[in-house]
Amino acid sequence: MNVVDSEVVAAILQKQDYQVTEEIDEASLILVNTCSIRDNAEQRIRARLREFGRIKKENKDVSVGLIGCMAERLKEQLLDEEPVIDLVVGPDAYRELPTLLAQVETGQKGIDTLLSTTETYADISPIRMDKNKVTSFVSIMRGCNNFCTYCVVPETRGRERSRDPETIVSEATQLFNDGYREVTLLGQNVNSYRWGDKETGISFEQLLDKVALINPLLRVRFATSHPKDISDELLKVMAGRPNLCRAIHLPVQSGSSSVLGRMKRKYTREHYMDRVEAVRKYLPDVSLSTDIIAGFCGETEEEHQETLSLMEWAGYDLSFMFKYSERPETFAAKKLEDDVPERIKKRRLNEIIELQLKLSLAGKQKDIGETFEVLAEGTSKKSEEQLYGRTSQNKVVVFPRGSVNPGDYLQVKITDCTSATLIGVQA
Ligand code: SAH
Ligand code: SF4
Repeated sequence: MNVVDSEVVAAILQKQDYQVTEEIDEASLILVNTCSIRDNAEQRIRARLREFGRIKKENKDVSVGLIGCMAERLKEQLLDEEPVIDLVVGPDAYRELPTLLAQVETGQKGIDTLLSTTETYADISPIRMDKNKVTSFVSIMRGCNNFCTYCVVPETRGRERSRDPETIVSEATQLFNDGYREVTLLGQNVNSYRWGDKETGISFEQLLDKVALINPLLRVRFATSHPKDISDELLKVMAGRPNLCRAIHLPVQSGSSSVLGRMKRKYTREHYMDRVEAVRKYLPDVSLSTDIIAGFCGETEEEHQETLSLMEWAGYDLSFMFKYSERPETFAAKKLEDDVPERIKKRRLNEIIELQLKLSLAGKQKDIGETFEVLAEGTSKKSEEQLYGRTSQNKVVVFPRGSVNPGDYLQVKITDCTSATLIGVQA
């Protein structure tokens, strides 16, 4: 999401004759797009700011701006705590950047952290900053209305709002015409996407179908699905369109209904399992990924074991796994006790990571001997002679370059694997 936001910011500033540079020493303006989801994300930003302080000392003409969720969460406090910062801009105020920068030029500090109920930057064509020119992201909605008790997103990104579908389809069409072969549609809970009213408006399934119809050679992914909202209708649409990728990211957070209750996730373990069964019924060759939080408030050993058993049952191919990090102003920070000791959180997270490694390896080993359609994305990090790409299931595959170019589709027979990567040869 932050990548897309940075691309929107680049587009707004390009109109003011700014250009993106890869060389920090060339920059007259350094903008740091920030995340507040866990405390360590914010700590890393604070460390980067010290580095920018040194650059600023050497070159007095450099300005430093902090944008995104941390700007929204801390507002003026940032200007007091971090003197290196000239500019603080929240996620819904990027259109104000030119005005704020003019203010900074006169030696003042600039700040705008107003949230909006309507801003989607729908009319702005992002300046693409991806490296491979094959895969790209398109934002379809902003904000979140779910208020999971641990989560800072509703506070930092405001209320949920959907983007005009016409602008989404035209942006994806433009990407295809520019040579891109994969788009990922992004929102905090894409299943609640809606444009217009219930009878005549556009739902997420309908939007997805429209994007899939742009061209069969355009692969379409989306994130994130919320287990409480993922519907059979969506799965039916996916089953009917092979270019809607066979990979679903369905964050579970915990395998225990009582923990899910404290998280206010609005589903139970049983409901989650019912949804996974539906996914597998409509899309038998699907791969599943998830997010998991270890050591949430009050989590007992039994509740932790329920997370492990659900992981095993679901057979996730990939998980993003985190230790619970208390965020100020959330419901959990105000009303629940962060009472799982750090060393137990760490141990539980390690058990979750270890199990996931086993599941990831097993999921890839069963692909050995099979042939998959792969979209080539670029040169492998390890060897110039090898390319990497992904299967529809979102598994990374490395294969000999031959005469293949990034952006090409090819059939790859899998011959070997690690827990992270499939290895194959052109079939
Ligand atoms: N909207 C998505 C996720 C957005 S945040 C969803 O609801 O699934 C990405 C992930 O960060 C979450 O799924 C969760 O696993 C993790 N996360 C969010 N807040 C957290 C916190 N306070 N501590 C640890 N992990 C957190
Ligand atoms: Fe946060 Fe929950 Fe919204 Fe995801 S759905 S962004 S976890 S509040």
